Amino acid sequence: MKTIGIIGGGQLGRMLAMAAARLNFRTVILEPQPDCPAAQVANSQIVAAYDDPRALDELAQASDLITYEFENVPVAAAEKLGASRPVFPPPKALEVAQDRLVEKRFINDCGIATARFHAVDSQADLDRALADFDGVGVLKTRRLGYDGKGQRVFRSADDDPAGAFAALGQVPLILESFVPFDREISVIGARATDGSTACFDPAENEHRNGILHMSTVPASVSASTAEAARKAATAILEALGYVGVIGVEFFVLADGSVVANEIAPRVHNSGHWTEAACVVSQFEQHIRAITGLPLGDPARHSDCVMRNLIGNDIADVSSLLAERNVLVHLYGKGEARPGRKMGHFTRLV
Ligand code: AMP
Repeated sequence: MKTIGIIGGGQLGRMLAMAAARLNFRTVILEPQPDCPAAQVANSQIVAAYDDPRALDELAQASDLITYEFENVPVAAAEKLGASRPVFPPPKALEVAQDRLVEKRFINDCGIATARFHAVDSQADLDRALADFDGVGVLKTRRLGYDGKGQRVFRSADDDPAGAFAALGQVPLILESFVPFDREISVIGARATDGSTACFDPAENEHRNGILHMSTVPASVSASTAEAARKAATAILEALGYVGVIGVEFFVLADGSVVANEIAPRVHNSGHWTEAACVVSQFEQHIRAITGLPLGDPARHSDCVMRNLIGNDIADVSSLLAERNVLVHLYGKGEARPGRKMGHFTRLV
């Protein structure tokens, strides 16, 4: 039986490990937090930092191939592992996804629209960049931002940028033009080792406090918008020579065109609905892709709404379980801290 090494021990790793087990793969998790959500359902855990060289050797020894569940895996660690074992998705996808400037340039090179942007490495850069966007834009850290953290929105020319560079930590930033979107959607796509691709239907996403709250499928977009989003995701998969599942987030404009926002080189929160509304989930799709198995049919058998259970939302679980057509998935996390993703549910509608 083959063993898949998974870097990262959160809920995404947990759901990957569960999907792997169903197809007769063993899993080993590299994660510094003992008894993490993924390790609870995997065969074993190496408790160490993601860049610990001895732990990486141990992971390579224990695994036939390696994948990851978050995009901030150190590229050097992925490359070190790649010297002795297949690493999927390719480390190049990490490089692109870890830096918003590199990511936007890459997406544009694929012929896909993004917000306009300027690199910001000083307050003077910021002042110039904001002037170019008439004082309106979204300032983000280039690296290590997630769930809306490390961002500042400038809503009008009256919004004073003084000190904004220092306030975001004097790290490399990017100023994006403000995209006046009608809605946000995402496409979960997959590419297999033989180059075949498959995309699930776009989900329409609603964020609250910078965190995904709800995904609705189908998204209320036209067939041509959905197709444009799927085509863009496929172009990104092909340009990266990708193997595995990717999440691509888009803004949808009033005219129905799509503007790419972000790439996640992994299974994605906005794809959790697939475990309830498709025969093959995004998690199984990823396992199939990286192990050289045929991709599953991404067709949706039901319309659905997925909602995250954040913090104390988990207290509602027993009433959700009493409902028909609701699939609940909990992550094995101890304390229900505010903002912490504790689980999710998908309601078929
Ligand atoms: P991100 O961390 O890039 O996913 O951004 C978090 C959220 O902020 C997005 O889901 C959007 O709702 C909003 N947002 C980010 N960038 C922009 C932009 N350039 N224009 C308008 N809204 C944005």
